[in-house]
Amino acid sequence: MSVFEQLEGHEEVVYFNDPSSGLRAIVAIHSTALGPALGGTRFYPYPSEDAALQDALRLSRGMTYKAAAAGLDLGGGKAVIIGDPKRSKSEELLRAYGRFIESLGGRYITAEDVGTGRDDVDIVRRETRYVTGVSVSMGGSGDPSPMTAYGVYLSMLACAEDAWHRHSLQGRRVAVQGVGKVGYALVKLLVEDGGAHVTVSDIDVDSVARAIRDFGVETAPADQIHAVECDVFAPCALGGIINDKTIPELRCAVVAGSANNQLERRDHGKALAELGILYAPDFVANAGGLINVADELQGYQPERAKASVESVYRTLREVFTIARADHISTAEAADRFAESRIDRIGRMRLYWVPGGKGWATSWDR
Ligand code: NAD
Repeated sequence: MSVFEQLEGHEEVVYFNDPSSGLRAIVAIHSTALGPALGGTRFYPYPSEDAALQDALRLSRGMTYKAAAAGLDLGGGKAVIIGDPKRSKSEELLRAYGRFIESLGGRYITAEDVGTGRDDVDIVRRETRYVTGVSVSMGGSGDPSPMTAYGVYLSMLACAEDAWHRHSLQGRRVAVQGVGKVGYALVKLLVEDGGAHVTVSDIDVDSVARAIRDFGVETAPADQIHAVECDVFAPCALGGIINDKTIPELRCAVVAGSANNQLERRDHGKALAELGILYAPDFVANAGGLINVADELQGYQPERAKASVESVYRTLREVFTIARADHISTAEAADRFAESRIDRIGRMRLYWVPGGKGWATSWDR
């Protein structure tokens, strides 16, 4: 396959190489139709350069849809650094990476992702303005996970409204797969605010113990949580959990969680709809973290960010309305919702305005 064939509709792919620090990174910019491309940096020991490229392409496309559906003036991008973060990460490497990001002039804005954390983002910040999710002490928004969890919680309320005509999770059983940063914050909201009964699973025994100690939750084996009889199944660990094997075993009315790429294949959204299971499309439900870091671009204000995350509820209700009207799955409706915004608002940006807002005129400022 030629290089351009591989790009599959992406605008730009950049390779960064700094042999002395060992930095080998790929930045994929899928779309800047709505604004600069924002997406985290994944640091991972990819088995090959091609695997790293494919991951960057796939993830950056997902960010375009997430930002568009969330109503943000942002496009989609993602970066990958090839290597084992435990062994290869160094200040030198991260600062070299920051300088490369700066060289893109703001077309791509980075953040943390798998294998990178706030300390790393703070180091990258020393070399570039184009990074979000930096520490609160540096004027940033810090860990996005609580806002992601809040968005997922609101998604569940939108689902409850649709499925049971009640804006409440009181007395409902929710099975949460993964009680890491997002899952733990979600369980707290479910138990303390929602009055829900919660069952959790995690492959990390300490995480499970913490959830039992703090919230008195029930537990299920890690490979059985999707099959727990419940009202809501919340995938908050891995992608691809909704697949040919797990779908027939689901015993829930709603799937709503934070994990990215929950559907192993696109048609699994249709399979859920055919079973009468209401699916909150992942990139709509888990947009709270992105909305939170996007607020940082204007000078972070926690209350404003929280109010913006509340749009997740309204967006999801709109997606459900489209699905019902067009007789399509909620997964397909979410894609249409995002694509429609990219077309309508992206087209408007074709017009040049003196000193105007938007990346196309940024050389004016
Ligand atoms: P995390 O690493 O803090 O937590 C993930 C948890 O899942 C860990 O405790 C891990 O032990 C557990 N886990 C892994 N495999 C499991 C399995 N087979 N069964 C049960 N548990 C398992 O990550 P996080 O930040 O909480 O993110 C959770 C998911 O949400 C990820 O898919 C992430 O991409 C997605 N997400 C996170 C954010 C955010 O703001 N952190 C935003 C959007 C999407």
